[in-house]
Amino acid sequence: MSDNSFLSVEDVTSGYGMIEVLFDISMEVEKGQFVVLIGPNGAGKTTLLRSIMGIVPPQKGRVYHSGDDVTDLNPEQMLQRNISYVPQERNIFAEMSVEDNLEMGAYSYEGDPEERLELIFQVFPILKERLDQEAGTLSGGQRQMLAISRGIMMEPELLILDEPTSGLQPNLVTDVMDSIVELQEKDDMTILLVAQTDQAIREADFGYLIRSGEIVLGTEGDKLLESDEVMDLYFGG
Ligand code: ATP
Repeated sequence: MSDNSFLSVEDVTSGYGMIEVLFDISMEVEKGQFVVLIGPNGAGKTTLLRSIMGIVPPQKGRVYHSGDDVTDLNPEQMLQRNISYVPQERNIFAEMSVEDNLEMGAYSYEGDPEERLELIFQVFPILKERLDQEAGTLSGGQRQMLAISRGIMMEPELLILDEPTSGLQPNLVTDVMDSIVELQEKDDMTILLVAQTDQAIREADFGYLIRSGEIVLGTEGDKLLESDEVMDLYFGG
């Protein structure tokens, strides 16, 4: 673990029952960094996030947060450490209003939820217009904005996002990514994000390429795009 390490994954092997998915994964995220995970479908990116969050406990290896061993913590305990996880399945309560969804995101927040709402409305003004609407009736893009917003209501120190732009129309992909970067700057957040777009990679301070459950490359964001393998993955060569 480096001295600056905020989140550190050391030699983690993980999977589902007898199925091993990750093999000896080690990675670091420093405070304030924007770090991306990239790799082909099925490489294990989601499993890595789940292993960090305690949803899929590692079979081997350790996870550290701010120097504390958090390997055996459950997702709720990770949340209490101010780590927010926005999974790929847009995690919203469809039958509840947009406002109630946002308030639920702040249930353990000790600051002023109104200030958080103001920040969110600056970045996603559409949510302000839809506050009373049932979340399940939002468009896919709006649901994704709501899921991200719920994740930041608690003013997380670390925000973990799994493919936040998946399934969005191309024009929204750029908007949502821009918003995430804006939020990071406004909030001084650390971000770990499974990226699908070259824009996310360009924005990143650092990135890891995962293939078949192993990290095959870890380098600065702009250098990632110099890798042939990354170019193949995102631009087909
Ligand atoms: P994608 O980009 O498609 O989301 P990924 O890199 O996030 O892929 P994972 O979702 O972590 O990859 O999946 C890695 C491997 O683990 C795949 O072979 C997948 O089939 C398997 N897997 C994922 N979830 C489960 C599960 N609940 N039970 C058993 N195997 C699983």
